[in-house]
Amino acid sequence: MMAVLVFTDQVCGRTDHRPLREGQKAPGIAAPNLTSHVTSATKGAQKDYARLKWSQLSTHEKAKFSPGSDLKDSFSTCWSHLQQEEEEVLERLCSDLSVGKEPRAVLFYKEEGNKRFGRKQYTAAAVLYSKGISHGIPGTEELALCFANRSAVLFHLGHYSACLEDIDRAQENGYPQRLLSKILQRQESCLQKLKQCDTSNTKSHKTERNQEKVTENPLLPNASRSLKLKFSTSKGRHLVASEDIAQGELLICEEAYVTVIIPDRETFTKKSTWDLSVSLCDLYCHHCLQRAAAPIPCPHCSIAKYCTSQCMDQAWSYYHCIECSLGGLLLNFGVFCHTALRTILLTGFRQVSEVLSHETSDPVQAPIHPYPGDYRSIFSLLSHSGHHKGEHLFLCALTSAALCKKLDIGRLSSMGTAPPTDESMSLQDNVQILGSAVLLHLLQLHCNAQAVTVLHDEKYEGKYY
Ligand SMILES: [Zn+2]
Ligand SMILES: [Zn+2]
Repeated sequence: MMAVLVFTDQVCGRTDHRPLREGQKAPGIAAPNLTSHVTSATKGAQKDYARLKWSQLSTHEKAKFSPGSDLKDSFSTCWSHLQQEEEEVLERLCSDLSVGKEPRAVLFYKEEGNKRFGRKQYTAAAVLYSKGISHGIPGTEELALCFANRSAVLFHLGHYSACLEDIDRAQENGYPQRLLSKILQRQESCLQKLKQCDTSNTKSHKTERNQEKVTENPLLPNASRSLKLKFSTSKGRHLVASEDIAQGELLICEEAYVTVIIPDRETFTKKSTWDLSVSLCDLYCHHCLQRAAAPIPCPHCSIAKYCTSQCMDQAWSYYHCIECSLGGLLLNFGVFCHTALRTILLTGFRQVSEVLSHETSDPVQAPIHPYPGDYRSIFSLLSHSGHHKGEHLFLCALTSAALCKKLDIGRLSSMGTAPPTDESMSLQDNVQILGSAVLLHLLQLHCNAQAVTVLHDEKYEGKYY
């Protein structure tokens, strides 16, 4: 089962392009584990590092994490508290994970793929070649050979357009001249097959979008006119039925504001042998979430994979240019932290800065009509910070501060298209805004995020090895 964490700006919703099992929660998502990274980092030395850090705070400092505290104060306290020692802990955490390229893994997965190919287990072989490709360093013969081998599998699976693309990639990455005739022959056969088919079979899935529409609501885009947006101080923004709702009636259909595929962290822990298991993270595009028959990896890390180069380019320009080098850290901090950061990156730092500077720190407000569905809608979701325990708030603030330590604030500040609010803002001001926003979203995600699960595709389930 794959899980995607989505952050929607409305009270409830669903993405419209994945098969869902309604009401199902993904394992490990319902109860976010924000402390595991801290405790695991201190095995043998301190059993509960976070608790210790909390116990070391003075009464005055602890007051910064009492119910209803200003999140900016909570963040600032952790930011100033984050000393050299904590930075070393972060370094150690990341050193346990392998998120970069690993040429030996390319050879390993290629060999395993070859074994499946020999047994005519083409789907399994394609997955293994893809795993190898994700570890390949651009411009190396190992990567070129892996692309070429995957092209052979794709040919047998009838994915002729994808096969041609892999043949091109094999050549771009330095496919050896001595073997060139092999792939050129395959290229020719592919072109002939495509002529016969007269259709491209690789992009067809892109058009298979759910066309289901909700009845139009003039005040609430993407929601049924059977719904009304209400507000209360205890529940925040919420929806109520304004008329009888028929069984099975579609109430909301909208794209999520932000989505993050929940990774299988174990896959990235350093092991003496590589893992043959298939995580659905290996099978779906990390940008558009479509099934990717022949995923293209990020050229710099082994985590992110995409269905097309367009998705890869978009992801890079919107968020992965920042996230890529943080790979290990984000895996350790967990998917809530990752989603909080991506929310800011997708919005653009300048817009985040503008909203945070002009809105109150307590984002309780009456609903705006018509409902805008933009970043202000995300910002105004209740974080219920008054209900979080001080220690928990401290952990979230510490996570936010640690993330900010590793971010290139200068680069972040230049992202986004809205005009800068104030040119005179210092680096410290920007850190404060970024950290407070991450902290706010971390808290909001506890009560607003939705884990969308998708069952294994029946066509593929159990047929890898
Ligand atoms: Zn995609
Ligand atoms: Zn990357």
